[in-house]
Amino acid sequence: MSTLKEKILGGLYGQALGDAWGMPAYFHPDQTWKAYGWITDFLPAPPDHEVHAGLPAARITDDSEQAFSLAWEYIHAKDVTLAATIKGIVEWYDRVGGDTSKYVGPSTRRGVQALKRGDDPHTTGRLGDTNGAAMRVSPVGLLHPNDPIGAIDDAAISCIPTHNTSVAISGASAIAAAIAIAMRKDATLDAIIAGGLLGAELGRQKGHPWLGPSVTRRIEMAVTIARKGGDPLARLREIFDTVGTSLSIVETVGAAFGVLVMADADPKQTAIYAANCSGDADTVGAIACAIAGTYRGVGAIDPAIIARLDADEICKQYNIPAIAEGLYSMVSPS
Ligand SMILES: [Mg+2]
Repeated sequence: MSTLKEKILGGLYGQALGDAWGMPAYFHPDQTWKAYGWITDFLPAPPDHEVHAGLPAARITDDSEQAFSLAWEYIHAKDVTLAATIKGIVEWYDRVGGDTSKYVGPSTRRGVQALKRGDDPHTTGRLGDTNGAAMRVSPVGLLHPNDPIGAIDDAAISCIPTHNTSVAISGASAIAAAIAIAMRKDATLDAIIAGGLLGAELGRQKGHPWLGPSVTRRIEMAVTIARKGGDPLARLREIFDTVGTSLSIVETVGAAFGVLVMADADPKQTAIYAANCSGDADTVGAIACAIAGTYRGVGAIDPAIIARLDADEICKQYNIPAIAEGLYSMVSPS
């Protein structure tokens, strides 16, 4: 049984693990399979990768960088606020040269550029319907142990500047609430899924109404496929073909629950399934493994994997152990 601090560390390292493991996967499973076969380790990105060409093995991407940047701002603000969210996202955007980087997602780029023009932050995210809202939300869940409603409310705040739509808040709330439940000592995978479904439903009632489909239904679809049993590759392909693993937040969040359940929330196995599912694999992996790592605790992640992540220069700059200390100081009973 993991302590709160072990769960926070597990969530943060899980996020980085799933992100870096999925980073080299191609958009289509046939491409990934042709290049690698079954991905069972950290790999460098292939030179022809659309987004990640040139990145070394065990390198995190925008998902974890944004999550960690937000975590630091929430620690400094001692709360999840709109101002801290804007600061965390804009500072990250400038750090990676966001105006010209392939790395920045469409909703985040649109939102940040509008913020920089001086637009009202309550309007800058009104078209944001992609998965950036969910890929960076794990710290919000970690700040709400056993408090899914608080996690959902703060997830909505974290969406405002770039993803202020019903569909994006639904996806982000699903992940934040699932992690809030995963922080419980007596958490079960069923309770985590139920938390995700609750977050998806309550989050959907917030933000600008949007034309996207139901996050709830995609989670249910993905969990059903995952629980069919049988050949893992066939189930991953079914998730890819029906739930989807594109930048659409309903697809990404649904697929993340699918690979999480297929792996019984073992962090490394979740990363393996996310990577081999392809599509936006680093984002599916980051989200799913943040939940898995929180649920199982840092003790469930091989120390050799943690050492590989900590040795990478980008991860080192964000300093996961220090983030964990900061988040823990906000949730620990004083
Ligand atoms: Mg990414």
